[in-house]
Amino acid sequence: MSETNLYAAGAGVVVGVDLGGTKIAAATVDADGTLGRVHTTPTPATDGPAAVLDAVASLVRGVLAAAGTGLRALGVGAAGVIDSGRGVVVSATETFPGWPGTDIAGGLRERLAPLAAEDGFVVVVENDVDAHAAGETWRGAAAGARSVLLVAVGTGVGAAVVLDGRLLRGAHHLAGEAGHLPVPGAEGLRCPCGRTGHLEAVGAGPSIHRRYLALGGDPAAPDARDVVARAVGGDDLAARVVRAAGEAVGRAIAGIVTVLDPEVVVVGGGVAEAGGLWWSALEGALRSEVVDVLADLPVVPAALAGEAAIVGAAHCAWTMTTSSDEEQ
Ligand SMILES: [Zn+2]
Repeated sequence: MSETNLYAAGAGVVVGVDLGGTKIAAATVDADGTLGRVHTTPTPATDGPAAVLDAVASLVRGVLAAAGTGLRALGVGAAGVIDSGRGVVVSATETFPGWPGTDIAGGLRERLAPLAAEDGFVVVVENDVDAHAAGETWRGAAAGARSVLLVAVGTGVGAAVVLDGRLLRGAHHLAGEAGHLPVPGAEGLRCPCGRTGHLEAVGAGPSIHRRYLALGGDPAAPDARDVVARAVGGDDLAARVVRAAGEAVGRAIAGIVTVLDPEVVVVGGGVAEAGGLWWSALEGALRSEVVDVLADLPVVPAALAGEAAIVGAAHCAWTMTTSSDEEQ
């Protein structure tokens, strides 16, 4: 069965879900990657996993009601380390209490069973950064590439790798967790994982803010965005901190691409929108570290913005749907 035939009457739709720490977003995504209207709801993370799955199911119900059809496949990009083979959370940060061990796939299958299209539906769960990478590789900044490194720099630093057209998962579901790479410049700085010296401790948005204040910056600066604005406005300390953060990410990327040799590096996340100072620091550090053969490696901004994980999770669901059809 071809992808487009899945939209025959009664076959239902594919829905992509981005399940983040503060917000859940969902939309239909058709076979060519076109997104329907995005529905969102706050994540009731502190109410526990059952409440979070209830919220996802309720949002998906709304998407299906608007589409006027049943569910053919559901793709979820979820925060945390995910065992995507089982659709279960392996570990998560403290922003998601009780999340480890949650059977996302099973919980959603049960809650959404009454809304299945006539042949039933599949559920695919991926880590949200992996979903982001799948989206950018399918329809975004890396469209058409077979090997991609995606780095997302925001409240944390995440990364995901597509190698030969497939997401790299690793033996412990951890492949791509670049935030915990030891990098020069992060010595002595505490990482959210509890250790010191990791990329996230110097490169993430909150780290930029914390470091600016720790080095004697204006205590009135409320967040990393403000530190970046000050850097652009001529605050030398702010500029130094922002540049150091960009360089740390660039050095980490240099290490990763040397091992994996991707066609393109996509950089997204809130900090990646910080502008030229951060980008030039990242690129400068990267280009000065890599061997000559990688000198022209394209480094591009993410193109799908907040919708990448929805599109990517849906793509994984589409892939699963079509491959299971072929097996039948
Ligand atoms: Zn760490």
